[in-house]
Amino acid sequence: MSAILKYLKEHNNQITDTLFRLTKAESPSHTKALVDECGNILREEYERLVGGSVEKIEKGEVGNQYKFTYGTGDEEGQILVIGHMDTVWDVGALPIKQEGDLLYGPGVFDMKGGLTITLWALKALKETGAQLSRKIIFLVTSDEEIGSIHSKEIILAEAKKSSVVFVPESSIGPDGAVKTERKGAAQFLMKVEGISGHAGINAWDGASAIEELAHQILDLKKLANREEGISVNIGVVNGGTRGNVIAKEAFAEIDVRITKKAQVEKITEAILNRPVFINGTNVEVLGEIDRYPLERTEAVIQLYEELKGIASAHGYDLEEGASGGASDGNFTSGIGIPTIDGLGPLGDGAHSEQEHVDLSNLPYRSALLAEIIQKYANK
Ligand SMILES: [Zn+2]
Repeated sequence: MSAILKYLKEHNNQITDTLFRLTKAESPSHTKALVDECGNILREEYERLVGGSVEKIEKGEVGNQYKFTYGTGDEEGQILVIGHMDTVWDVGALPIKQEGDLLYGPGVFDMKGGLTITLWALKALKETGAQLSRKIIFLVTSDEEIGSIHSKEIILAEAKKSSVVFVPESSIGPDGAVKTERKGAAQFLMKVEGISGHAGINAWDGASAIEELAHQILDLKKLANREEGISVNIGVVNGGTRGNVIAKEAFAEIDVRITKKAQVEKITEAILNRPVFINGTNVEVLGEIDRYPLERTEAVIQLYEELKGIASAHGYDLEEGASGGASDGNFTSGIGIPTIDGLGPLGDGAHSEQEHVDLSNLPYRSALLAEIIQKYANK
């Protein structure tokens, strides 16, 4: 057993305490005061366990964010770990309870478990005297669950200085597979304008915006391609005013998911430049790619292979998987920095009432992160 895993196994109770503390500090994305409170606890834990420099990034609308720097190594080619402390849960919506080795609670898996194993990974690197020739940056944001509008900039700025990005977001399945692929996402708003009129009197001279929208929806669906991993969902439509009036306006919200950066341009082009099916109507589309896919590149495969090796030395089999959902890892992968996601604890039920973490495997997941950090910090 590695010194790091041994150290973490001996401290499993303390690791669990950290997770309890962070989970009890409920932090719904929209309640700044509570996210700030959770941030204070995170900072306390970092200072108590790890030490090193702490930069607080004050935010007005969302919770304050933190950039923790560990080690005295080079900034050039730094190692970046990103996480978020906000959750999708309103206060009190989900009780915190422990059943055997499983801890249930709001955000425990997504992703206070990931924050916990990162704190303890750094602690273990420190306590075992691991040599690191590059700086480690642990960046914790506060609005991932609501689109990362207030953190995208700093994530990209830090990623640009980094050689690799680790994302301890929730893992997949009972054995905690890591995510080597995440879809990218784009959102569009379509506005159709027609010519209104009386449904009876002007039956043949109006131009129905709703009818045009119906054509558009079916045509948009043709852009989806299951083999290539491109999906198109029209999730919201509205339009018209009365049953006996030819609709002057209609709207649709379109969500597109892609798996390869190379697909972005073509699909964006096709959605923004629409053919028109009904004379007299006008179609306008606004929107753009929101997050590039987290792509399973050669560098990501290599990262995965190395993680698999570390896991195997600990007696675990580590699988890889893909996720349809996006994370902040999509941003870093989008600018070409090798990024691996799903490094969080074993557990299940993110965003559901079954959300939980397996406490007995926290040392293993923390050691996995610590050892891959150590490896890349000395490359
Ligand atoms: Zn998350």
